[in-house]
Amino acid sequence: MADRPAHLPPGTLLGEHYVVEGLVRLAEGRMFYLATDARPDRPTRKCWECETENDRAVRECISCNAPLSDRRFLLATRWMHERFDATLAWFDKKLEHPGMLRPVDVFIHNERQLFTVVPYSGEGLMLDEAAPLASTRVIDLAQRLAGTLAFLHNNGVQLARIKPANLIIARDNSVRLFDLEVEAVHDGPVPEAHRNAELNSVGHMLRRYCDVEDTELQTFLRAAWEGAFSSPATFGREVDKRYEQFVNGGPTPTIAGMTDVGLVRQLNEDNWGWRKLSDRARLYVVADGMGGHDGGEVASELAVETICRIAEEQEKLQPAGLDALEELFDHAFQTANNTIKEHAEEKGNDMGTTLVSMLLLEGKTALVANVGDSRGYLFRDRELHPVTRDHSLVAKMVERGRITAEEARTHPHSNILLRTVGTERDVDIDIFRVDLQTGDRVILCSDGLWGEVEDRDIQEILSTYSDPRIASRELVKAAHHGGGKDNVTVVVVGIP
Ligand code: CA
Repeated sequence: MADRPAHLPPGTLLGEHYVVEGLVRLAEGRMFYLATDARPDRPTRKCWECETENDRAVRECISCNAPLSDRRFLLATRWMHERFDATLAWFDKKLEHPGMLRPVDVFIHNERQLFTVVPYSGEGLMLDEAAPLASTRVIDLAQRLAGTLAFLHNNGVQLARIKPANLIIARDNSVRLFDLEVEAVHDGPVPEAHRNAELNSVGHMLRRYCDVEDTELQTFLRAAWEGAFSSPATFGREVDKRYEQFVNGGPTPTIAGMTDVGLVRQLNEDNWGWRKLSDRARLYVVADGMGGHDGGEVASELAVETICRIAEEQEKLQPAGLDALEELFDHAFQTANNTIKEHAEEKGNDMGTTLVSMLLLEGKTALVANVGDSRGYLFRDRELHPVTRDHSLVAKMVERGRITAEEARTHPHSNILLRTVGTERDVDIDIFRVDLQTGDRVILCSDGLWGEVEDRDIQEILSTYSDPRIASRELVKAAHHGGGKDNVTVVVVGIP
């Protein structure tokens, strides 16, 4: 896989028109820059309204009278597995649709980086939004994407996939597609057989933004992910038809989930999820996969999916008492373990994952289970307490008094795990019972958080931000400030 290109420092002259202000965000396979068109080295300046080149000294466009002054732009760049020719062919078609932000420029830099350029006036990136979103917002996005994809298909444009990195939040708060990953541009409309290709990525992405209580909407989007709809039009019609059924009161204000690739890794192998198991029980999960491309991210996703599915099936049998729920938990972990193990044997690789999960019963009793070094913490009365114990070599060395907790953080073997899910036939899990109080928060996270942010700083952030979505975003930011060497995932569950 192609390495991430070197950062372009501020002041770099880029393409025909731009000078880099700075790198603003890294994502999986993406870098985002802010830039201006202040290029005194060029004798002329492009009018972005009518594309006329004007003498740099003039203040108004000679063709359309638009005012000419330095403008700011957001530049997205990618470099892997991308059909640059298809994206350029799409740009040349100059299609306009309210569901997408059309770039003013697309160009290739150094023969290996494709840049798309949009005007910038304070827009946000969907990458910075934690789940959940209000159900109305998820449905609105589903309708918009369905409409935009149908329009693109009619115009012969087929996309490779849609991910959060392809979404921008306009200043009116509407979400639009940008930096499209174009798979092919056909002479006529996209052939029928290819019309459901993008919907699996739409279902996969949107499901993540659903609240834990949005079970109907989650199930529907899951079906889209699994290929239930033949085209964006049929998907869009079904969303319209079932609108009332999907709308819930509003997102649960006390929970949040977010994952981020970090600043160094190319791939995000972390995963997270939540599921309403029954009226009394909710399940929250974080998994940190290992095994490289098509290994780690498959293992962590399989783990999250399997544990949610098995726990839901088992909860339908209405196990009574905490011992029975612990058995349920153990069974769900074992099934996740064996599913990954079988998948790994089939593929001939050695994928595995950590797993930390909380089963929340009646909103007041928690069972927290873990394998590996993803952690559960309890935040109570402005203090952070560890709930889980890492199954890692350094944790064992600390336990035995051979090194200090501080030394463990920077120990050369800090990444050696003693237990993981999916690598052996059976797996031992630890389960901790926590009686919760109003105002408590439980944090599940991968080592990309606690490895970069010290516990006292996590505590400080949770004390400062009571809104869990903001707290999650700040925790991810803190991991970046700490170095961002690993993928970072956090789920925050508050007890109302
Ligand atoms: Ca990790």
